[in-house]
Amino acid sequence: MEQQQSTAVVVGAGIAGIASAIRWARKGYAVQVFEANSYPGGKLSEFQLGEYRFDAGPSLFTLPFLVDELFTLCGENPRDHFNYLKKTEECRYFWDDGTRLIAHSDPEAFAEEAQRVLGEPAANIIDQLALAKRQYEATKGLFLERSLHKASTYLRLDALPALAALPSLKLTQTMHGVHAKRFRTPKAIQIFDRFATYNGSSPYQAPGTLSMIPHLEFGFGTFVPYGGMVAITNSLVALAQRQGVVFHYGKGVERIRVEGRRATGLVVQGADVSADVVISNMDVTPTYRRLMPDLPAPEKTLAQERSSSAFIFYWGLRREFPELDLHNILFANDYEAEFRDLFERKVLHDDPTVYVHITSKDLEGEAPAGGENWFVMINAPANYGQDWLALRAQARSAILAKIQRALGVDIEPFIEVEDLLDPPTIEARTGSDRGALYGSSSNKPMAAFLRHPNRHRRITNLYFVGGSAHPGGGIPLCLLSAKIAANL
Ligand SMILES: Cc1cc2nc3c(=O)[nH]c(=O)nc-3n(C[C@H](O)[C@H](O)[C@H](O)COP(=O)(O)OP(=O)(O)OC[C@H]3O[C@@H](n4cnc5c(N)ncnc54)[C@H](O)[C@@H]3O)c2cc1C
Repeated sequence: MEQQQSTAVVVGAGIAGIASAIRWARKGYAVQVFEANSYPGGKLSEFQLGEYRFDAGPSLFTLPFLVDELFTLCGENPRDHFNYLKKTEECRYFWDDGTRLIAHSDPEAFAEEAQRVLGEPAANIIDQLALAKRQYEATKGLFLERSLHKASTYLRLDALPALAALPSLKLTQTMHGVHAKRFRTPKAIQIFDRFATYNGSSPYQAPGTLSMIPHLEFGFGTFVPYGGMVAITNSLVALAQRQGVVFHYGKGVERIRVEGRRATGLVVQGADVSADVVISNMDVTPTYRRLMPDLPAPEKTLAQERSSSAFIFYWGLRREFPELDLHNILFANDYEAEFRDLFERKVLHDDPTVYVHITSKDLEGEAPAGGENWFVMINAPANYGQDWLALRAQARSAILAKIQRALGVDIEPFIEVEDLLDPPTIEARTGSDRGALYGSSSNKPMAAFLRHPNRHRRITNLYFVGGSAHPGGGIPLCLLSAKIAANL
């Protein structure tokens, strides 16, 4: 008799949900993905404003081999479907006092530039990047590639480097503390501190272990996908479909059905969908609160402080101002009063620094002739009930003034089309608890161990993937969460 094919259902078509669908299809499962929105990708999606196209969320792409490996897993050549360029400049820093620094991707060139522009000895930059590399190498096997919730993880040989390297992990210092000790100049400290925002944490609270983050940029590089960031989502959805995965859009999941120690399927718009395996790519907090209200929730895990969120202004501009040459620039903020006041009501970090990313593009198809699209992001706390309407208006005028101060151009008259994302909108569009960009913050030394595991402790056919589960938020880690879950 022919054996019936096993089935898996995925709640949400965020990047980790799509990657999970591919991995489980590859295991031989018949996979269905249910997505509440009418489009895939969650935070990693795109939208159009008139003739301007915008990537809605991420702009920084690191560790592209984690995308490539999904194609090779399926026996395909990634280059036939998904391509990207390696950047020679990570970004450009602008300060109000006129200082401008190019962060070259090549560490030596970056260190020389830091010495020339900031007066920071090049050796300090090189030594710090060497520490970042050691920290990354020591921890990747333990923290990033496996479940932290299985004894076997700690008994493996590749857990040894992490244990042997404990002193270099700087667990008892903060990230800022590590940088303040290393660097002579405040601007160098500021540049390295900003990497805490890669997972929505505060450099003043996050452990020194996170000083490893610059290694992602300077060790591996940063990349630009052809077709924009959304090409990651689109090419993986197409790959999943070639593996037989069926996507259902506009289908919000209402319940995960659990009987005893087994998840038995979903309730979608009142209808039962049974399955042998259930994978939630929805944020873990609403997964428990809304989809499984009768199941005891891991309260300690859910009570972890959220990572930061953001204000994003999407502006389509008529390019009638002087050429600014702003491809992927970043303002390092000078702790300005208006930004500090803006978020005074925040309940989160005591970090008053605000970073502003502007990605301006005039690639074909991105903006009309003579137009330019800007993605202006200001880090903000997660949604704890602040008066966002008032904050929006204040944030807008503060950032316009900041741009004028740093670049000498008032761009407001040139804004042709405009949209905005704030923490409540992020929450509404992707289901992220409090609109956090990266799940829980990494502001405590033990934060990594307090993230939700990739499999339910008792219900062993129920998996959790995405930014709120282990190993955390950001595209690479979300892809790793799908890999760890599938390997479990
Ligand atoms: C503005 C912004 C900038 C960022 N910048 C970067 C960056 O530069 N680099 C980087 O690596 N990362 C960045 N990130 C973070 C990165 O985008 C996320 O960590 C990652 O995309 C999250 O993927 P995920 O798999 O957790 O799913 P999400 O993107 O959170 O998607 C979850 C999906 O589940 C769906 N869903 C939720 N509930 C249900 C339900 N009940 N039924 C059906 N579907 C449901 C949602 O609609 C959504 O589509 C940024 C994020 C934002 C918002």
